[in-house]
Amino acid sequence: MASIRDLHQQLINKERSAVEIAKDALSRVETLEPKLHSFLQVTQERALEQAKQVDAKIAAGEEIGLLAGIPIAIKDNLCTQGIRTTCGSKILENFVPPFESTVTERLAAQGMVMLGKANMDEFAMGSSTENSAYQVTANPWDLERVPGGSSGGSAAAVAGGQAVVSLGSDTGGSIRQPASFCGVVGLKPTYGLVSRYGLVAYASSLDQIGPFGRSVEDAAILLGGIAGHDAKDSTSLKVDVPADYTAFLKPDLKGVKVGVINETFGEGLDDGVKTTVEAAIAQLKELGAEVQEISCPRFRYGLPTYYIIAPSEASANLARYDGVKYGFRQPEASNLMDMYKTTRAEGFGAEVKRRIVIGTYTLSAGYYDAYYLKAQKVRTLIKQDFEKAFESVDVLVCPTAPSTAFKAGEKTADPISMYLSDLMTIPVNLAGLPGLSLPCGFDDQGLPIGLQIIGNVLREDQVLHVAYAYEQATEWHKKVPSL
Ligand code: GLN
Repeated sequence: MASIRDLHQQLINKERSAVEIAKDALSRVETLEPKLHSFLQVTQERALEQAKQVDAKIAAGEEIGLLAGIPIAIKDNLCTQGIRTTCGSKILENFVPPFESTVTERLAAQGMVMLGKANMDEFAMGSSTENSAYQVTANPWDLERVPGGSSGGSAAAVAGGQAVVSLGSDTGGSIRQPASFCGVVGLKPTYGLVSRYGLVAYASSLDQIGPFGRSVEDAAILLGGIAGHDAKDSTSLKVDVPADYTAFLKPDLKGVKVGVINETFGEGLDDGVKTTVEAAIAQLKELGAEVQEISCPRFRYGLPTYYIIAPSEASANLARYDGVKYGFRQPEASNLMDMYKTTRAEGFGAEVKRRIVIGTYTLSAGYYDAYYLKAQKVRTLIKQDFEKAFESVDVLVCPTAPSTAFKAGEKTADPISMYLSDLMTIPVNLAGLPGLSLPCGFDDQGLPIGLQIIGNVLREDQVLHVAYAYEQATEWHKKVPSL
């Protein structure tokens, strides 16, 4: 399957036009949708319009950037002006944003071609896309299994070859875990590196937007297209962003210090995942990395801490959906209070309600200190574990998820077992660090396994470097699902 650079070359050599590339991608979307259900909406008109503009530039002899004419899928929690944005929820089923998110605006300005809006768990709460109010996306490697979540549509679209790259969002693992389940590269950037303006908020202190790609290089190029300060997001960092993230992609790891997080190899980890990730770490050593074991003793408190902080923030963020300001309204209510109640009762799904209830409880007077405040303190301790680790290593590695993709329906009745999918990704969000998942092998059922590489604050360069060196030394990224 073609990479960003391949397509760029074809465009500037005039072997194929942007419209041809867009049409091919749209037809692949159409062919595979009955199997994959990655998209909530295909935006054919916008795609062809954007592609035409790229072709006009090429015809006029203007220079085009690497991202121009490249087909992309966008997670449906990113606001797109004039194009319905549901966030996977019934409560936003008819919400057409009057504004554009910063990331999609930047990508459009660079000539990217948006194929459509990708399926997701409602309000990005979930690990399988089964919480979408509309459809369950299938894993391209085994259609009976989930693609992971919450950015499952974005991951499946790339793994299935419907889109070249895609954008997802990651609050506790929603880019990395589906990347791992679908056998693609997914990167959650440092908190604040990418503007959240126009991202429908779930848990604002944790949410980050990031790229999916079939290779480290594609993910690095797309990151470059979205990173950088934005005055419209007050948490956006005022830092210089590297002009070209691909400049860090070097094949050897001499002198790079890699720490293996001890605590992630314990109970609950599938045997197949364990042996595969251990083999990947051995490979890093062969490439010249200095590998040592590192302890992050408070890592295991990440999950319970997250399930206080994220619902707390969500309960506040989701208060705005009241049937008045946005989207769905239950029409038969007899008075205002009744309208609020019935709108929210019908508009939100079970998982979203569960989290609103938990978050309202943990923020309530009398319980705030015991839960929310305590969780914030533990968050600081987890961050300190990472800070200490990065005194002696450049990057940390561990499995991305404790298992490979599970069957649809397998975990829906048991929220805690679903939550455990994010055991290894959540601490990274709590500390605001960059984390990437890339394919490092397959289990005995032919399902992809992901290796997670975690970097220090704003050290996407090191994360991408290690990922690239590993990728180039292995063949995993070349395997594609037979669809
Ligand atoms: N799966 C986790 C959850 O359900 C993480 C979701 C995310 O990163 N958006 O909250």
